[in-house]
Amino acid sequence: MIPVIIISALDEKEMMLACIQKGAEDYLIKPYDRVLLKARVSACLDKKILHDREVLNNQKLEAAYKELAVAYHELEVVKNELEALSHRDGLTGIANRRYFDTVLEREWNAAHREKKSLSLILFDIDYFKKYNDTYGHLAGDDCLCQVAIAASHVIKRPRDTLARYGGEEFAIILPDTDELGAEFCAEQIRFAIENLDISHSSSQINSCVTASLGTATISPHTQISTSQQLIKEADLALYQAKREGRNRVKVWSTDR
Ligand code: GH3
Ligand code: MG
Ligand code: MG
Repeated sequence: MIPVIIISALDEKEMMLACIQKGAEDYLIKPYDRVLLKARVSACLDKKILHDREVLNNQKLEAAYKELAVAYHELEVVKNELEALSHRDGLTGIANRRYFDTVLEREWNAAHREKKSLSLILFDIDYFKKYNDTYGHLAGDDCLCQVAIAASHVIKRPRDTLARYGGEEFAIILPDTDELGAEFCAEQIRFAIENLDISHSSSQINSCVTASLGTATISPHTQISTSQQLIKEADLALYQAKREGRNRVKVWSTDR
């Protein structure tokens, strides 16, 4: 902003008005008074200094706001990354037990609300203690990762959740999936794990790593009242698979 003071011999009201309307700070008529002009110039300069300071402050404020917005966005990204990390199992990278609990509760409620089926698969690697004893803990860790990858390739729907349930046990939540669908999925996982062909010389049932699987399902008409009961039923089916010789799928059926 450059302040303008008009000094003119024209003593016309319209001209004065036009100049002021176009932005002149003042209009002095010749012959002008030097003291008065000095005072007007000084007032204009004070006004300009204030104006410039305000512009500068606004620019600084705007820059600070922009920096703040960038920092806020970066914080959001980090927060989302941290949240995603808190859902992951450190070894295998699949969902952890805490996230499994959250998803199961959510899907349990959704299944009731939408009157849909919900299935759960629990599976456990066979003779895994012997595997660690034979090949070492690091090889055991690697085996767990390979099993997680193989299982993740089997489940296809975006809402299906594969999680490490604990140790060498895994769980899969299958929303909108009936008993037959869950059994089919479990059998594919059993096959995929066997097909990894990871040598297991101390297994009592096979020359390579295998797993036992149990499934349980709630249909819209099932009476079971809590998600914990679904877990319990899948677990019972899993231990039946163990008892009957391992490397197999057992379905928990409500009619038993
Ligand atoms: P079963 O066929 O009845 O399931 O026998 P199992 O030996 O697989 O079961 P058990 O519960 O006796 O042993 C589980 C083993 O899994 C023992 C434990 O050291 C191992 N394990 C659990 N978590 C991890 C892990 O993160 N890494 C490794 N390498 N081993 C693990
Ligand atoms: Mg186990
Ligand atoms: Mg085991």
